[in-house]
Amino acid sequence: MQDKYDALKKYYGYDSFRPGQEQIIDNILAGRDIMAVMPTGAGKSICYQVPAVLLPGITLVISPLISLMRDQVSSLNSNGIPAAFLNSSLTARQYTLALQRASAGAYKIIYVAPERLVTEGFRSFASGADISLLAVDEAHCVSQWGHDFRRSYTEIAGFVSILKKRPVVAAFTATATEQVKADVKSLLGLRRPFEVTTGFDRPNLYFGVLREKDKLGFIRSYLDKNPGRSGIIYAMTRKNVEQICSELQAGGYQVTMYHAGLSDEERSVAQDDFIKDKKPVMIATNAFGMGIDKPDVGFIIHFNMPLSMEAYYQEAGRAGRDGSDAECLLLYSKSDIRTAKFLIENGSDSDSADPEDAAAAKKNRLEKLKTMISYCESEGCLRRFILRYFGEKYDSAECGKCSSCLTEHTTVDVTRELRAVYIAVGSTGERFGAAFITDFLRGDDSPRMISGGYCEREGFAALSDRSRSFVRDFISRLVENGLLISSEGTYPILSISPLFDRVIDSGKRVTMRFREEQISGRAPKHQTRAYTAPDSPIDAGLFERLRSWRRDIAARRSVPAYTVCTDSTLRRIVAQKPRTRSELGQISGIGDAFISRYADQVLALLREYRG
Ligand code: ADP
Ligand code: ZN
Repeated sequence: MQDKYDALKKYYGYDSFRPGQEQIIDNILAGRDIMAVMPTGAGKSICYQVPAVLLPGITLVISPLISLMRDQVSSLNSNGIPAAFLNSSLTARQYTLALQRASAGAYKIIYVAPERLVTEGFRSFASGADISLLAVDEAHCVSQWGHDFRRSYTEIAGFVSILKKRPVVAAFTATATEQVKADVKSLLGLRRPFEVTTGFDRPNLYFGVLREKDKLGFIRSYLDKNPGRSGIIYAMTRKNVEQICSELQAGGYQVTMYHAGLSDEERSVAQDDFIKDKKPVMIATNAFGMGIDKPDVGFIIHFNMPLSMEAYYQEAGRAGRDGSDAECLLLYSKSDIRTAKFLIENGSDSDSADPEDAAAAKKNRLEKLKTMISYCESEGCLRRFILRYFGEKYDSAECGKCSSCLTEHTTVDVTRELRAVYIAVGSTGERFGAAFITDFLRGDDSPRMISGGYCEREGFAALSDRSRSFVRDFISRLVENGLLISSEGTYPILSISPLFDRVIDSGKRVTMRFREEQISGRAPKHQTRAYTAPDSPIDAGLFERLRSWRRDIAARRSVPAYTVCTDSTLRRIVAQKPRTRSELGQISGIGDAFISRYADQVLALLREYRG
C-alpha cells in the first residue's frame, strides 16, 4: 500500500516533509480535525493533498479565490492527481458535467468556492458523496476579527451537518492571533482539533530596509540587475501604483498593475499576465496577493512602509515560496510615517457606528504602526525583530541575511551626546519636539531661537560638531529606547523618562551601533552591499534553455509555467545535469508524472547542451 512518503515522492518529487506537514497528515489520516497556522509559503497544500490521495473518497477544498483554483487544479492534474474545481467561472453546462463526473468518482480533490456550499445542486451532490476530508483554506475568513472576513465562510459548519458522514475538517490559515484562532475553531465547528503552528522563520528570504532618496531610480536599477525575475512592488495608494507603473512602462519594463480601482476585467488580465510571466513584475496596492501562490516570486519591494508587521510579513512572505532565495526590500523614508498616519486617521474605522470602537481600533492601528517604524529604524537583526514580534525566540543575535546584519556598523561612544540631549531637553523646559531640539543642539540661531532667548540656555550648540541627520536619528533612537518620551498628537513633545535620569545618574559610559552614513551625515555611495542570491544558476545558459523549453510546454498546455515545474527544480537540474531517467527522478521536485511526460525531452536537451 502506498504511504505518505511514497505519495510525496511520486506526485511531487519531494523527499522530505517540511515542519508541521507530517504531523498534520498523520492526524488527518487518524481521523482528527486540524487547526493549522502556517505562514505563507510553508506548504499548506501538501498537508491536505497527500491525505487526499491516501484516503478513500473525495477531499473538498474550500478556497475563497476562484481565480486561483484553476492553477491549483492544473498543478494537481500535471502531477497525476485527478482534480477539478467548481465555481462561477464555469458555464452552467460545464458545471453540471463536472458535478456528474464528481458523483461518478472521477476526482480525488475538488476545489469549491464557499458560495457554492449553499446552492441546491452542490448540496445534493455532496450529501450523497463519499467525502473523507474537508480542507478549509484561508480559514481566518470566517472571523470578523481577521483581516478578510467573508460571510459565505460562516455557512461551512451548516454545510458539514448535511453530509451523510462527518468528514475530517482541517482548517488552515496564516493568521495567528488568538481571537481569530478561537473564532475559526468555534465557527467551523472543529472537534478537539490537533493544533499546530509552524515556525515563522523563512530562511530563504533576505530582509532589507533601504533608505533610498530616489526610490524609482532604485527600482529601475534593481530591475536592470534582475532581468526576467518575477516580483511584486507594493505601494501605499492607487495613485502611487499608477505612477510607478506608467513610469516603468515608459522605460520599457514589462510590468503590470493591480488595485481596487480597476475593473474586474482589468484586474483579472493583470493577474493572469503576472502569473503566466507575460509581465513578470506586478505593481500593486495591498489589495493584491491573497491566495496568489506563484511560487517563483523572486522579490517583494515595498515602495512605502506598510501599516503593520502583520501586513508586511504576509506581503513579503509571497516571495520565495518555492524555497529559492528571494529578497524582501522595504524602501523607507520618513515621509512614509506622515502618509501612514494620515491613512489611519482618515481610515474606514472613523465611520464605524460606535465611536468608542472606532477610537480603540485607531489606537490599535497606531500601535502597530509604531512597531513598523521601529522595524525600519532598527539597527539590529531584522529577522530577529520579525520573529520576536510574532512571539518566536530567535537564538542567534545575527541572521547574516538581512540589511542590518550585512551593513557594517561602527560602535560609537555616545556618552557626551547623551548628556547633551538630556541637558537640552531639560533646559528648554520639556516643551519642544525633536526638530526644535535638533536645531538647539546644532546651534541654529534662527529668529525663533534668538527671540525666545534659547541661545542663552545651557546646552545650546553642544552638538554643533555633529551633522543634523545624526542628531535627528540619535533623538529618534532615544525615543525608541525609552529614554525620551514622545507625546501623542500632531506635534509630539519630548520629555525625559525616569530611565533616562537613571542612566545619566549612573555616570556609566554608553555605546551604540551606527551605520557609516549616520555618523558622517553623507549618503553612502552604495546603500547596502549588493546582495547576490547564493543559488543563482551555476550555468545561466542552460538554465535559460530549460526555462524556454518550459515556457513552450506551458504555452502549449496553456497553464502557468510553474505548474510544469518550478525554478528551483530547474536550478537543481542545472546543478546536477542528470544523464538518465533515474538520475532525473532523484531530483527534488520531479515526480512520476513529470518523468513519464518530459523525461525524454529534458534528457535530450541536456545531451544536446553537453554537445
Ligand atoms: P502555502 O502554505 O503558502 O499554501 P504552498 O502549499 O503553496 O504554500 O507551498 C509553497 C511551495 O513549497 C510550493 O511550491 C510547494 O510545492 C513547495 N513545498 C511544499 N512542501 C514541500 C516539501 N515538503 N518539500 C519541498 N517543497 C515543498
Ligand atoms: Zn539579520
